[in-house]
Amino acid sequence: MKFYSTNRNSQSVTFREALMKGLADDGGLYMPASIPKFDKGFFDRLNEFSFKEIAFLIAQKFIEDEIEEDDLKRIINEAINFPAPVVPLDDNISVLELFHGPTLAFKDFGARFMAKTMGHFISRENRGLNILVATSGDTGSAVANGFYNIPGINVFILFPKGKVSYIQEMQLTTLDGNVTALEIDGSFDDCQRLVKSAFVDTELNKQLNLSSANSINFARLLPQMFYYFEAFKQIENKTGEIFFCVPSGNLGNLTAGLIAKEMGLPISKFIAATNANTTFAEFVKNGRFVPRDSILTLSNAMDVGNPSNLARIQSLYSDNIELIREHIYSDSADDDVTADTIRRVYKNYKYVIDPHGAVGFYVTNFFLSTRQIKNYSAVILETAHPAKFADVIEKELNIKIELPERLKNCLGKEKKSVSLSSDYKEFKRYLFEKKNNN
Ligand SMILES: *Cc1c(COP(=O)(O)O)cnc(C)c1O
Repeated sequence: MKFYSTNRNSQSVTFREALMKGLADDGGLYMPASIPKFDKGFFDRLNEFSFKEIAFLIAQKFIEDEIEEDDLKRIINEAINFPAPVVPLDDNISVLELFHGPTLAFKDFGARFMAKTMGHFISRENRGLNILVATSGDTGSAVANGFYNIPGINVFILFPKGKVSYIQEMQLTTLDGNVTALEIDGSFDDCQRLVKSAFVDTELNKQLNLSSANSINFARLLPQMFYYFEAFKQIENKTGEIFFCVPSGNLGNLTAGLIAKEMGLPISKFIAATNANTTFAEFVKNGRFVPRDSILTLSNAMDVGNPSNLARIQSLYSDNIELIREHIYSDSADDDVTADTIRRVYKNYKYVIDPHGAVGFYVTNFFLSTRQIKNYSAVILETAHPAKFADVIEKELNIKIELPERLKNCLGKEKKSVSLSSDYKEFKRYLFEKKNNN
């Protein structure tokens, strides 16, 4: 399979190149040259396959012989080593819990798969790889965890000092080994500036093999297709219309679902739910894309004013807004509605939903209330564990939220980080010294 750039101004590349480069030279995002399809018989027999087997069959369609069958099976075994259960709330509505990975959010799927595939290719080369990531919290912990202990790869996570939550900081700073947490005296934007400066620094790149673990990497999108198939398999009633609701920010999760639909997965429509950052919802409604600065909300992993994967969605549907609307409905929920929904879901179903899932639940119900659909199944992606937002949940529900064991573990460990200023020269000097000591 070849991958083209959505800007159509650079050469097509292999899966390996798309993985290692992340972004195309012309600034575009990589998309598969064609969307592979499964025949209807496959979906009828889906019950016969385990989650890992489904994941393998999907991945193989995109990676083909670039990774040998046994190696790809091993990568999936190691990366997708936690379940994605569909939990019914009532006869028609269920949630797909995507938070059973090590850092309690769906980003574990993408980060772990990307890390293991990079590790696979690097193990065949005679030089190591250095990954630089700037994070405001969640992405960094998923990436750090995914790359932890992968031979030949060093990871440097830059986070703004004092500006991530206590739990996030502990997740970032207690891994050690091949993962180094760099505590930058500055803002998230400073962290991003340092990483970007390093990538364009020819002197540095001559000596260090640098790469990013960017969220726009196709290898992060690919494993997000797996769980749409896995969820479809678990839906009890497949006789009516089937809706998937995706709480959205940069639209990576939604794009993965849309590609799964193009592969033949029989989904009637996607419901894209945004918070008060309504750029995408407005685009679907009126066809105009007006990027904005993001605003802070309770569902902060969706605080995105200029969603990066829009180019992929436009490319998938040849920039045709009518076609986009055939596949996607989109609407939003603000913080008041989100808080109210957290209480309502707990009262009606005894289910503790996190703020991101709550946005999805509200928009799904609004969508359903505007149409007369009798026979349907709606699946809402629950993208994070409620314990990650314990302060919000405990305030709304007056209950105590237990931290899962895998999160408690890191809280007992010693924090290790390197403090740096936001000065690029200091950062560069640090990377050189690190290299010479290895
Ligand atoms: C990243 C994230 C989202 C948004 O996903 P996109 O792929 O960026 O649209 C939603 N919920 C949680 C918990 C996240 O971490």
